[in-house]
Amino acid sequence: MEKFDEFDLPLKGLPAGTQDFSYHLGDDFFRNMESADVSAGDVNVALSVNHVGDIYELCFTVSGVISIPCDRCLDPMQHHVDATYAMSVKYGDEYAEGDDQTVLPHSMATFNVANVIYDTVMLTIPIMHVHPDGECNEEMSRLLAQHSAGAPADDEDDDSDKECDPRWEALKRLTDNN
Ligand SMILES: [Zn+2]
Repeated sequence: MEKFDEFDLPLKGLPAGTQDFSYHLGDDFFRNMESADVSAGDVNVALSVNHVGDIYELCFTVSGVISIPCDRCLDPMQHHVDATYAMSVKYGDEYAEGDDQTVLPHSMATFNVANVIYDTVMLTIPIMHVHPDGECNEEMSRLLAQHSAGAPADDEDDDSDKECDPRWEALKRLTDNN
């Protein structure tokens, strides 16, 4: 995880009260994340950590722009990112991940927030995302529309194609690394 060292939050050493941290996600961040969808990014992250008792309340604010492929023409389109995400972390006997609370073993002095930030950014992408009307690559969207209209309903023979889907490959790489 060396690529994401800068996202190691020194949680255990934090005094009581609120501390602020900031991060910047550039193209490298998304490349290192092996994100198949994000080709470029410029996102600022503000993290506020409120340490009360044995609980650390983390609040992330992400804002900026990423480039993702348009669903209609596949050309890159700009997607504005603007979201917050709150979670809490506490120390316990062993690592556990709940919906909103993560338990870290006492041996972990730092908590790496790269994945939490990445997920927060990716969750801002709507299921359907396209260029504003008239800004699509018209030739490409026409070709794609023709292709999907003419696609055979029976895709039994298409299993091998799945291996070539870059998203699938990225997912596999992620899983293999774990
Ligand atoms: Zn488009």
